[in-house]
Amino acid sequence: MADAPRAFVVGHPIAQSRSPMLHGHWLRQMDIAGSYERLDIAPADFSSFIRGLHSAGWAGGNVTIPHKEAAFAAVERRDAAAEAIGAVNTLWFEGETLCGGNTDAYGFAAHMDATAPGWSDASQAVVLGAGGAARAILHTLVERRIPRIVLANRTPDRARDLAGRFGASILPVAWADLPQLMSGADLLVNTTSLGMKGQPTLDLDLDPLSDAATVSDIVYVPLETPLLEAARGRGLRTVDGLGMLLHQAVPGFERWFGRRPVVTQALREIIENDIRGKS
Ligand code: NAP
Repeated sequence: MADAPRAFVVGHPIAQSRSPMLHGHWLRQMDIAGSYERLDIAPADFSSFIRGLHSAGWAGGNVTIPHKEAAFAAVERRDAAAEAIGAVNTLWFEGETLCGGNTDAYGFAAHMDATAPGWSDASQAVVLGAGGAARAILHTLVERRIPRIVLANRTPDRARDLAGRFGASILPVAWADLPQLMSGADLLVNTTSLGMKGQPTLDLDLDPLSDAATVSDIVYVPLETPLLEAARGRGLRTVDGLGMLLHQAVPGFERWFGRRPVVTQALREIIENDIRGKS
């Protein structure tokens, strides 16, 4: 009988990762003989870890901070999302070939599709932030052909760089110009860490947005950020960040363990309880 598949999440530090909770739930729920482990590997040891993956018998795993760019460089084959985003968060083998993908864009889109049908019919989007997560969001919005995407970041050069990377639909703008450029926008996505527990609040007047706008915050600690609370107060449709985290785990699980898991309310409640317990 073949050995039970083993997968991991690798990062440094790694104690904070909720991925073992997610994948452990699915393994138990589907009664799959397999394991999902947390690995703390320092940057200096990452390349030898990657070289030894196949002989150590791993089916693959998730990659998190600070290894996503190193994983991008280390894999032999990449999926289209990883190529576009420039970072790898999921590893698997095809034969002996180490492959890398990025499932953050999938996770964002799957959660938006599930909770805010029609969201990508937006004609004008506003994206806040130009860090790692912004790349996955921009990739999704460009793939969904949203015609105009206003991009604002505290450090303007980073927004300009991403506009160069993701194409002509992206308009990098100064943060100070947001009030007028948000006028009539029907989608707003926060990808900055503003509003996250321990970080400053994102202070933004939502009045200029269209009355039909959807507001999404990918920050998920707390579950309802001040931005989402303000959007709800203004009567706008809101989408939280937790669903993205849950959905991004689906493709990796299917690759390592051979069954496609489902994001259920029960799973969501397990992670919500963990977040509430720690926030
Ligand atoms: P990152 O690469 O460090 O980028 C952070 C972003 O936030 C940058 O745009 C940065 O602007 C901005 N920022 C930070 N502090 C700021 C401040 N005081 N004022 C204005 N802007 C500020 O981080 P990331 O990986 O993109 O993650 C960003 C957030 O998304 C985190 O809260 C993370 O937990 C969340 N996230 C959620 C998911 C999910 O599945 N829901 C997935 C990934 C990330 P500068 O460029 O000017 O520094």
